[in-house]
Amino acid sequence: MVDQPMVEQEMAEQPTTPAVSVRDVVRVYRRPRRSPFAPAPTVTALRGVSLDVARGQRFGIVGESGSGKSTLLRIIAALDRPTAGTVHIDGEDITSLPERRLRGLRHRLQLVFQDPMGSLDPRMRVRDIVAEPLVALGHPAHRERVAELLTAVGLSPDAADRYPHQFSGGQRQRISIARALAPRPHILVADEPVSALDVSVRAQVLNLVTDLVDELSLTLVFVSHDLSVIRRVCDSVAVLHDGEMVESGPVEQVYDDPQHDYTRRLVSAIPTLRRALAGVSVRELAAGAAGATG
Ligand code: ADP
Ligand code: MG
Repeated sequence: MVDQPMVEQEMAEQPTTPAVSVRDVVRVYRRPRRSPFAPAPTVTALRGVSLDVARGQRFGIVGESGSGKSTLLRIIAALDRPTAGTVHIDGEDITSLPERRLRGLRHRLQLVFQDPMGSLDPRMRVRDIVAEPLVALGHPAHRERVAELLTAVGLSPDAADRYPHQFSGGQRQRISIARALAPRPHILVADEPVSALDVSVRAQVLNLVTDLVDELSLTLVFVSHDLSVIRRVCDSVAVLHDGEMVESGPVEQVYDDPQHDYTRRLVSAIPTLRRALAGVSVRELAAGAAGATG
């Protein structure tokens, strides 16, 4: 019995252990009953999704609105539990961990959400927002560490004394990224982090994310409805359609030679793709991506 955690620890340390491993994940949501006699209607958001993300990989998940992308990310981050299937982070099964044992996961994996205004408490100063994950994990949040994090995301350390509404959308997303990096995670999970931003600042925030991923050797799991954004940021991609993963592989392979009908349709629906593959600038790409929604 005593040996068991040691064995698991050693397994988790293996360099070949995926950072994220999703197996046969199903998520069924119950909707409110329309009548007390009718069974509650259900929505199957994920229908048996499996994927592996290697350490250091930049893994994109693409699909239309409603395809299950956010549900999958929430389950990977243990903010939600699957109806069936498992998620391992660094070799540890997080799907069976009780809430109080998820602390270790919060050190290793952090999230950035789509809407920086919705995910930042307007009554909190930036200093406390950025320090929040550290405090939640029981660590002191030193002034110097907050300043270092703000600098890392391209903000002035003075930003610490201000409130979210005093910043632009792009700056607020930088604050969200600083907060996510505070506990020094090695996995960053981002759910459409630039979709709510003005076109003019998307490229800058995407550049920041890719620069930080490089500098800090992070593993990235990045969700977008926009194939050109995934192309810019990721090396591998999985295509979700109606809760199923229909295709996955290296970005070039999936984009140049899509195997599944749905992927072909997605790829041909992105007018900027040809230009993306032709090496058009990120600014132009981001401008082209503005037409898509999701
Ligand atoms: P995406 O992020 O790709 O737009 P989501 O994961 O948000 O997709 O949603 C997938 C499906 O699950 C949709 O049909 C959505 O309506 C449904 N869904 C998501 N969250 C809930 C929830 N909390 N309760 C009921 N249905 C949900
Ligand atoms: Mg979503």
